[in-house]
Amino acid sequence: MKNNHLADIDIQTFVLQKENCDIAIVEHIAQCDSCKMEVEQYKILFEEIKQQEQPIFDFDLSDLVMAQLPQPKPKHMFENTLIYSTVFATIIVMSIVFYFLRNNLLGMVKAITPIFIYLIITAALSLSIFLCIDMYTKFQKRMNALDF
Ligand SMILES: [Zn+2]
Repeated sequence: MKNNHLADIDIQTFVLQKENCDIAIVEHIAQCDSCKMEVEQYKILFEEIKQQEQPIFDFDLSDLVMAQLPQPKPKHMFENTLIYSTVFATIIVMSIVFYFLRNNLLGMVKAITPIFIYLIITAALSLSIFLCIDMYTKFQKRMNALDF
């Protein structure tokens, strides 16, 4: 308080958040003409501030930022060809192996007890569900980080 009057912060609090104000401040303002006048001045000031237009950029910020981002490298034809030929060769080799070993593989599957198969399926499902939830959580976090 200055000279037994209210400080500016108290008067601003009274103007902006009357309900959170101390009862002594409210009583002082009700009795003191000087502080009442300051309250009126602050009310006019805050009204004027509210009526000010929000500043708007006269340029497109997203275009400027996007122009400065590094461009993604286009994948070379050679890399694509290498990847496709590797996948194709793997499929061919796997098919040949499965074709020649089909009887042994079928016998192996029949030899496994059903309980073991159920355990493998349960473990695989649990792991898949866990990985999906983890991936979705990370995705949500990243989307929240991008969203302002
Ligand atoms: Zn006063």
